[in-house]
Amino acid sequence: MLEISDLDVHYDGVHALRGLSLTIAAHEIVALLGNNGAGKTTTLSAISGLVRPSGGKVVFEDKDITGLAAHKITSCGLVHCPEGRRIFSTLTVHDNLLLGGYLVRDQAEVRKRIDRVYDLLPRLAERRAQQGGTLSGGEQQMLAIGRALVTGPRLLLLDEPSMGLAPLVVAQVMELIADINASGTAVLLVEQNASAALKIAHRGYVLESGQGTLSGTADALRSDPRVVEAYLGGA
Ligand code: ATP
Repeated sequence: MLEISDLDVHYDGVHALRGLSLTIAAHEIVALLGNNGAGKTTTLSAISGLVRPSGGKVVFEDKDITGLAAHKITSCGLVHCPEGRRIFSTLTVHDNLLLGGYLVRDQAEVRKRIDRVYDLLPRLAERRAQQGGTLSGGEQQMLAIGRALVTGPRLLLLDEPSMGLAPLVVAQVMELIADINASGTAVLLVEQNASAALKIAHRGYVLESGQGTLSGTADALRSDPRVVEAYLGGA
């Protein structure tokens, strides 16, 4: 459903992506692994229109979306859930979810999607009137993902959802992502926590200095000595 070919991104003086190619099939979870500064966030931003690629192509469901405005890409069903949660801390949980539907004309559909998020995440339902900023870190991450779901993604781009969370909470967030995928949404999962990501991913890519250096099934990557050495703590 997504095909990226030969993608290049330049920031002033920085060649952040160098000819990256990757594919995601419908219903897949694909992990994108790499160290700080490897270009993972840049990849998501180039796909979702937050950054304009200087070369290459992004094709989503047979449509060339390279360089399209971000809101148009979102409306195509490709939703980017950025790093750092970015929820509105003074708004309630419910209002944060409503904002996920700002591009959706059909308000009945938005209500239906919010109900589905509450079914999936009963903790958010219990806290629907609570201010976003007073949620725990894990709950804020769940809210950020819940809000992205209200936008109606067929492909969800997730940037470091495990960041700053305790191991038990990381496991809960990963379980949520697997559930979302099982109900029919493809996921591109950027993670520094390679071990957590490879547990739920079908396939993965390793990015180093803006270039794809390795790819394969999650099982193959997990047992690849180079991945073990560099991303799984050399265990
Ligand atoms: P992290 O895990 O630390 O978030 P990352 O793999 O997501 O890292 P990117 O944030 O994509 O990496 O950054 C890739 C490179 O591009 C880095 O060298 C970074 O400094 C540079 N870069 C990112 N955003 C900008 C920007 N807006 N302007 C200039 N350089 C940038």
